[in-house]
Amino acid sequence: MELENKTVIVTGASSGIGAAAALLFAAEGADVVLGARRSANLETLAGTIRRGNGRAAFLAGDVKDEGYADALVDLAMREFGKLDAAFNNAGIVGEMGPIPDMGTSNWNDVLSVNLTAAFLAAKAQIPPMKEQGGGSIVFTSSFVGFSNGGMPGMGAYAASKAGLIGLARSLASDHAADGIRVNALLPGGTVTPAGGEGNPDVLEFIANLHPMKRMASAKEIAQAALFLLSDRSSFVTGSPMIADGGISVRLT
Ligand code: NAP
Repeated sequence: MELENKTVIVTGASSGIGAAAALLFAAEGADVVLGARRSANLETLAGTIRRGNGRAAFLAGDVKDEGYADALVDLAMREFGKLDAAFNNAGIVGEMGPIPDMGTSNWNDVLSVNLTAAFLAAKAQIPPMKEQGGGSIVFTSSFVGFSNGGMPGMGAYAASKAGLIGLARSLASDHAADGIRVNALLPGGTVTPAGGEGNPDVLEFIANLHPMKRMASAKEIAQAALFLLSDRSSFVTGSPMIADGGISVRLT
């Protein structure tokens, strides 16, 4: 049990990587606080976790709202009495296309969901962790924020995901002495609704960009998040941890 007696916030828990992570964390003993906009999905997932004898609370909301980040922390404190870790994972790809053709509203949307929301989450999560004497925070970045990997038209997404690496490193430096570790997780292409699930042509294109010639499953990426959130990574902070099937080292 890697997360026994730990309370963990998971955003983006209504789908894909976040849902797989919440299930894994609960199976590893965590009390999970689930966030995303789709309440029905969160309720279903919380039900599944409770039927497996886990503990889960959920609150639907938009990660762009500062009040929502605070409300998830309040829920963790109210239901489980503490906050040990957070997987700030919600994200969107937004519209894809060349920057000269990109609307400012798309740029603003992608940056606020993917990057500003991480700032808001950290602002809300760090004070209780500091008071408790420690914690672990993980932001879901992407290989696209580190190496383009052959993905065209992803300027806003790449900027937001690269920004998460800088934010994680700065927070790691500021809060290491408080016992708070902060890392960025950089998945490669992962089979989820955002990753092209249900569209065989897209899945094949993305799979072939990877030296391993396949995409990750959401469960594989959840395992990497589990490592960063658990005490197994007790000396890891400020790390952009790559779990990308080799896409960032690909030569051709
Ligand atoms: P997904 O299945 O589409 O899940 C995205 C999650 O983010 C959903 O739970 C969605 O919930 C939530 N979300 C989006 N906008 C939100 C908002 N404004 N407020 C609250 N929640 C919001 O995609 P995924 O692939 O699992 O993505 C998870 C993370 O991994 C993202 O940060 C993504 O950028 C990153 N990533 C994915 C891949 C990939 O290939 N799939 C690769 C690298 C990184 P609601 O719609 O219910 O709000």
